[in-house]
Amino acid sequence: MRKNISLEEAQELLMEHCPSLQTGYVGLQDSLGRVLAEDIVAKENIPPFARSPYDGYALRAEDTVKASPDSPVGLEIIEEVPAGYAPKKIVLPGTAVKILTGAPVPEGADAVIKFEETEVKDKKVLIFSKLKAGQNVVPAGEDVAQGDKIACLGAVISPPLVGLMASLGITEVPVYERPRIAIISTGDELLDVYEPLQPGKIRNSNSYTLAAYCRELEAQPFILATTRDKKEEVGLRLIEALEKADMVITTGGVSVGDYDVLDEAMEYIGAETLYWKIDIKPGSPNLAAVKGGKVILSLSGNPAAALVVFHLLGVPYIKKMAGRVDYLHPKIEVTLKNDFSKASPRRRFLRGKLRLEKGIAFMEVTGGQGNGVLHSMIGCNILAEIPAGSGPLQAGSKLSAFLLD
Ligand code: AMP
Ligand code: MG
Repeated sequence: MRKNISLEEAQELLMEHCPSLQTGYVGLQDSLGRVLAEDIVAKENIPPFARSPYDGYALRAEDTVKASPDSPVGLEIIEEVPAGYAPKKIVLPGTAVKILTGAPVPEGADAVIKFEETEVKDKKVLIFSKLKAGQNVVPAGEDVAQGDKIACLGAVISPPLVGLMASLGITEVPVYERPRIAIISTGDELLDVYEPLQPGKIRNSNSYTLAAYCRELEAQPFILATTRDKKEEVGLRLIEALEKADMVITTGGVSVGDYDVLDEAMEYIGAETLYWKIDIKPGSPNLAAVKGGKVILSLSGNPAAALVVFHLLGVPYIKKMAGRVDYLHPKIEVTLKNDFSKASPRRRFLRGKLRLEKGIAFMEVTGGQGNGVLHSMIGCNILAEIPAGSGPLQAGSKLSAFLLD
């Protein structure tokens, strides 16, 4: 087992143990936010036929070569085509078809003139200017051409993609299964949310925060019973979790104290520990283990420390397991809005919120940065990195940051 490794090494070790989940089909209306398990290739043109973008007259541009305000060309109106109907007649020289927005341009016609630019006299439409071939005609396939790839495997399905799939008549969408994530909080001090406080006890918040983040990721979290600081109890709970889930996340018991039993519990159940502790603050005490090809990510009990590491390691891992190709957080440069008075002998991640002001990406620190301060995770969408060995930072300092979503 490796100890005190870098964040990047920990991420690499985790990703080496990232399974591919099953694929299946969901109905179009249930597909939003799911991850595509196949490329989506257009089997048809959108729109399927050349159409008129205006109410007007479809005609042959050639027939208007001599048209001018003083000497309009008169074309015989042979038909009227509203949207939703197919033209029955062919536009021959000297004729035109009255056409409404969205209706197919009839065979023979290659241009459309707007209604308001014409006059009608004796069943003829008068044209006062010359049109070019293709003018005011929306070609078939303007939006998507047959054979175009409109979305790639591993993409998250967005509202416009749902719409394009509807245009193509795709009712069943190929997607990856959503990762099932078991969540276990460990600690003798923990009460559940419905229990009254007792001396020395606190309510378990970690299970609920983690489950909520997993839900935001479109994963399927489930919370197992809180477990005491006994390696046998933790071990049994882990076995129970591994049977039902694709991945297990635990909190608490990963430091070096007498009651920190997670490493022993891994041994007890025969899980292989990949690493223990990473060289960052907050959240250094954490470990990852693997059993039967499934990863157990064990985070600190301190809520903020647990969540920072969950964002740095757990979220990319869950996204990759879900089939996403964009599983890493984007990196941006931010300018600190506030002073940060502490020195950072170790590599530190600061929780903050992105604020765009006059085109500059500022980071506003969201509150106290203590390991147990959960409220500064509210609104936190940035984890900015302070390199090891840095002194206090002044507002205006530039930092590299992960953008969370
Ligand atoms: P540990 O990582 O077990 O040493 O716990 C560190 C701190 O986090 C202690 O103050 C715990 O009481 C607190 N803590 C542990 N588990 C939870 C939890 N599930 N929810 C909220 N706080 C917790
Ligand atoms: Mg503990």
